Amino acid sequence: MELVGTGPSQVTSWTGVAAEHPFGLHTLPYGVFTDAVDSPPRVGVAVGDAILDLTTATRDLLPERAALFHSGSLDALLAAGRQTWTIVRQTLVRWLTDDRHAGVLTPLLLPATDVTMQLPFTVADYVDFYSCEQHAANVGRMFRPAQSPLPANWRHLPAGYHGRSGTVVVSATPITRPRCQRRLPEGTVTFGPSTALDFEAEIGFVIGTPSALGRPVPLTDFADHVFGVCLVNDWSARDIQFWESAPLGPLLGKSFATSISPWVVPLDALGAARIQPPVREPPLLPYLDDTGTEPWGLDITLEVRFNGQLVSRPPFAGMYWTAPQQLAHLTSNGACLRTGDLIASGTVSGAAPDQRGCLLELSWNGSAPLTLADGSTRSFLADGDEVSITATAPGPQGTSIGLGEVRGRISPALADGATRLDDPS
Ligand code: MN
Repeated sequence: MELVGTGPSQVTSWTGVAAEHPFGLHTLPYGVFTDAVDSPPRVGVAVGDAILDLTTATRDLLPERAALFHSGSLDALLAAGRQTWTIVRQTLVRWLTDDRHAGVLTPLLLPATDVTMQLPFTVADYVDFYSCEQHAANVGRMFRPAQSPLPANWRHLPAGYHGRSGTVVVSATPITRPRCQRRLPEGTVTFGPSTALDFEAEIGFVIGTPSALGRPVPLTDFADHVFGVCLVNDWSARDIQFWESAPLGPLLGKSFATSISPWVVPLDALGAARIQPPVREPPLLPYLDDTGTEPWGLDITLEVRFNGQLVSRPPFAGMYWTAPQQLAHLTSNGACLRTGDLIASGTVSGAAPDQRGCLLELSWNGSAPLTLADGSTRSFLADGDEVSITATAPGPQGTSIGLGEVRGRISPALADGATRLDDPS
């Protein structure tokens, strides 16, 4: 199904939001918020620096669809399907551009600084891919220097692993340094806090409409199933990961926490960002061959800030495998999609050193530590470090689509023998 273009271009809003605001009328991302201790979570849409309370607004203004916004999560909206997503988005544009709605809606526009953002949807299955050629090749150069940088299968299929959906947390949740079994460089096997904690800057695709068990999802059905995109930080403990990952894939080195942005940007907002993906060689098997289909490369530029300092601008535009190919591959064996599945792209890195999407690459596995503005250096994350990932994409008529921010700060590992976060020992 083709997307319906619902993004306004030169439309002005009685809210006063500027056309060039990353959360202008062309973006309209959905999230979930609370605004007081113990208040039930509500669904909102970001309008500039404000949040429109949709749980309350739809009760009177859109009663036939108010149930989609009752539960304090995006789950019902995700499950409603593309036709409903389009109608709701068109309705929001009408509300925000017709000043007859200003009287009713103005009291429901809350300053974003007054609310606390929550996990926006129930994460069903979480899969993380490995779809950036630059990232995969850099990892190969570091760890398999005598071999070809890319594994033999890499250009034939989008590689990935199943992650842990229960530990996906919303931006700003503190990340406790994981403790686990690992092997020290001299060979001793020990248990303790990770000393190689890293981030990975990624884009996540959020599944709305489920697919049937046994029925692969073809490339052309992508937009029927995917509701929108968010930012992902796939926190990774490299020492744990590299010790545990032979012969199977990442387990505890990744499962302690994955952060996502609080805002889910609808796929409808990304029409102007769509570009041709790179040419693939060798040619792909038919179920992955996207030549001749509508392009789903996306011109999204990420920015990574380390304790506030911009350290990298990874370009999503160069990703070798697109999200439609990831879904087609994921379901090619008959596995089904569920509402709330989170499909992450894999670390996004560009060719230039200041486009690398993780510290493993930025510090070249610690051999070339990153120097920060205060003169300190990092091979991996220190306690107290904060990583922020933001992103923007081209919108209609020269505007910019914001994806918001995912950030997290590293808390110290639990002390030896401690079993609770507040254990003072
Ligand atoms: Mn990852």
